[in-house]
Amino acid sequence: MRCAGISGRARWLQPIADVVFTHLHFDHVGWASHRDAPVFPSATYRVHQADWDHFVAGPRRSQAAVDKLTPIVDQLELFDADFTIAPGLDARHAPGHTPGSTIYIASSGGRRALLLGDIVHSVVQFEERDWEVIWDVDHAAASALRNRIADEAANTEDLLAAAHFPNMSFGRILTTDGPRRFVAV
Ligand SMILES: [Zn+2]
Ligand SMILES: [Zn+2]
Repeated sequence: MRCAGISGRARWLQPIADVVFTHLHFDHVGWASHRDAPVFPSATYRVHQADWDHFVAGPRRSQAAVDKLTPIVDQLELFDADFTIAPGLDARHAPGHTPGSTIYIASSGGRRALLLGDIVHSVVQFEERDWEVIWDVDHAAASALRNRIADEAANTEDLLAAAHFPNMSFGRILTTDGPRRFVAV
């Protein structure tokens, strides 16, 4: 019975095939590796070339990122253009917060869910068009990109979530009462 239980459980534990990074700030790479070994030994780890150059390979590299990401180098695939990871899941370059920041768009039946990473840190930034955070590498580009994404999604069925939103809840952007606002769903 014990063996049957283990094999039954194993059927559900498919190896993770792909890990995609929104960007390489330290709070977004923590589980890339653990004790100098990849957390997902069968996965391809994908990140935009510009973030790899900025955080790992460049002269202003982050030692924390280097330490966390060096163990996955043999499983790394860099990209420098928008691409489709799998049917219904697209990567779109969204530079500003970091040079290689990427948003991931899941789509099905004409509807979309946008995973924004740190393009926006607080839902308040949808309402306050000029509010910034100190962690944006290029403040002007980050602000322009954030507003472009928000305006594009406003009053559509698009669902948005960002890594630091409370409970990582999805929501829509509406302007029906005036200024842009985020309405959790
Ligand atoms: Zn960040
Ligand atoms: Zn973050």
